[in-house]
Amino acid sequence: MDLLEYQGKQLFARHGLEVSAGKAVSTVEDAVEAANEVGYPVVVKAQVLVGGRGKAGGVKLAADEGEAREHAQNILGMDIRGHTVRTVWIEHASDIATEYYASVLLDRSAKQPLVIFSVEGGVEIEQVAEQSPEKLVRHHVDALRGLSREEAVEIATEGGADSDVIEGVADALVALYEVWLEEDATLAEINPLIVTPPTNPLGGSAAEGQAGGRRVKALDAKVSLDGNALYRHPENQGLSDSENEDPIERRAKEQGVQYVKLDGDIGILGNGAGLVMSTLDVVAQAGGAPANFLDAGGGSDAAKIQQAVELILANDAVKAVLFNIFGGITRCDEVARGLIAAFGEIGAGGHSIPFVVRLDGTNDVEGRRLLEEAALPNVHAARTMNEAAEKVVELAAA
Ligand code: GDP
Ligand code: MN
Repeated sequence: MDLLEYQGKQLFARHGLEVSAGKAVSTVEDAVEAANEVGYPVVVKAQVLVGGRGKAGGVKLAADEGEAREHAQNILGMDIRGHTVRTVWIEHASDIATEYYASVLLDRSAKQPLVIFSVEGGVEIEQVAEQSPEKLVRHHVDALRGLSREEAVEIATEGGADSDVIEGVADALVALYEVWLEEDATLAEINPLIVTPPTNPLGGSAAEGQAGGRRVKALDAKVSLDGNALYRHPENQGLSDSENEDPIERRAKEQGVQYVKLDGDIGILGNGAGLVMSTLDVVAQAGGAPANFLDAGGGSDAAKIQQAVELILANDAVKAVLFNIFGGITRCDEVARGLIAAFGEIGAGGHSIPFVVRLDGTNDVEGRRLLEEAALPNVHAARTMNEAAEKVVELAAA
């Protein structure tokens, strides 16, 4: 579950990372009011789940009310790489001396958390990795011990952070690691992690904390939370961007069904995530394009199957559907009964989408016999996965 920048910053603040105060708004009037409140200069920032907003014109500095209004007008409703801007975040603009990069993620191949730090921030990190990999520190963390402050200081030093902000960067890395760990994030990234210029004590702008010293703060936030761990974080449950979520995916989530929309035209249902994944592969191999991932899970009764079928058919792109059931704990005869009952209901809707059903495993003979007996229109039985995949691709193309 990806968070918008301002939501990520809320999590950062909760764990002691310095961020600018601001306001999320969705109208020009509210934007102007928020800008007046936080004080000029402000930054007007598009809140969309895609990077590179700055380059696309979705991040603008405003020196006064007139500029704030103009930027809010331009940015609200803007399309950034297929994402419509519905919300802008207004924060007090920061002075930037330099831009660093920091992230924490899980390195699956090393089976360890990975901290990445670079003094080349503000640009895309992939670019840094390609053009100047020596400017990138990659540090694996012992998951049981966590990231110690000493380690964080080493990372900052090795990465070449300016000597006066080594401590500040180390604090930020430890806090970012804490965000990643305690919020059950899969990614916590700050780009740029800025260093502010020194404040002049005579200039009147009193620095918070160390007077006059340069501070380290998160100017951007990219946080992805593990959706499967969300039950442990009731306070984070409201963060999903339901406005921008696919409506079928949202419905599936509400029903507790594992459904992911894809861009093909063959609806897929299987029992077990692994089986569904391989079904997607086999369909692709047969020349087809899956329209979704749907795991019906174990013990698929009629109501559940019917719900799944409705979800699959809610996607208008679907031209044919493949049911791939391997009977284990879930018995094929039970699935067949579910299917027959579900089709009894759906049949009334008069749809004409063909279904290919592959039943194999526990009680498969009985399952196929039941299907045959029911003689459902538009339902084709198949015995093997390859046979089923070829059949469904053929039907989708017809
Ligand atoms: P992204 O383009 O989607 O990564 O959005 P960012 O939040 O990273 O903003 C892009 C760039 O805008 C940053 O790298 C900064 O250079 C600039 N920027 C953002 N906020 C401020 C600010 O408060 N002050 C200044 N001077 N520049 C900012
Ligand atoms: Mn950024």
